[in-house]
Amino acid sequence: MLEVSGLTTKYGEISALREAGLHVGSGEVVGLIGPNGAGKTTLLNSIAGLLTPSEGSVTFEGEDITGRPPEDLVRLGLALVPEHRRVFVDLTAEENLKIGGVTTAGADRAELLEEMGERFPMLRDKWTTPAGYLSGGEARQLAIARALMSEPRLLMMDEPSLGLAPILVDVVFDLIESLRAQGRTLLVVEQNATRMLDLADRAYVLRSGEVVAEGTGAELRGNKDLFDTFVGN
Ligand code: ATP
Repeated sequence: MLEVSGLTTKYGEISALREAGLHVGSGEVVGLIGPNGAGKTTLLNSIAGLLTPSEGSVTFEGEDITGRPPEDLVRLGLALVPEHRRVFVDLTAEENLKIGGVTTAGADRAELLEEMGERFPMLRDKWTTPAGYLSGGEARQLAIARALMSEPRLLMMDEPSLGLAPILVDVVFDLIESLRAQGRTLLVVEQNATRMLDLADRAYVLRSGEVVAEGTGAELRGNKDLFDTFVGN
């Protein structure tokens, strides 16, 4: 479904990502792990069209999408929940969701809104609350729900559990598990490597802008030196 090859992305002269490659098959849950500053966010943002790579290619369902703007990619079925909750603070939770569903047909949008209300009961209670008044956990759920409103074929999430209270971390991992049970395709950056490896079909380890390992959770855990050095948590 997604093929990333030789992707290099620079901030000025500094290469934050060096010839990174990965693939995600339909229905797979793939994790992206590694220490702070390894380039995980840069990689997701380069795939999602928020950053323009200087070299390499991104192919989505056979189509070269390298450097295409994010709005095109949402239409093609690729959605990103960015690292920092970027919700429209002056709009209500419901309005945020409707915006997430602009590329979806009207009837489907109404159905999806219902589904989000059921999937995120915590959010359902805040439907008419401006998003700026939501707690960190609620805003995180809203950002994920908004991305789901576009009915993505591939959903990418950047650190969905970062900074959340333990009980909300569980909510996020339960959500990932339920999306996986639905057969959705996910690429997830997670600092909680242990839990991500439990859940993911496969994962990639990034360090200093390079993909240094790839494998199943069991394979990556089996490589103790790698696991301790690069993952650690
Ligand atoms: P974290 O878990 O801390 O978010 P990460 O693996 O997602 O880390 P990136 O945020 O992709 O890493 O950062 C990769 C490298 O690029 C780091 O050295 C970082 O300091 C640098 N970097 C990130 N954003 C910028 C920017 N806007 N300008 C310059 N350098 C940047």
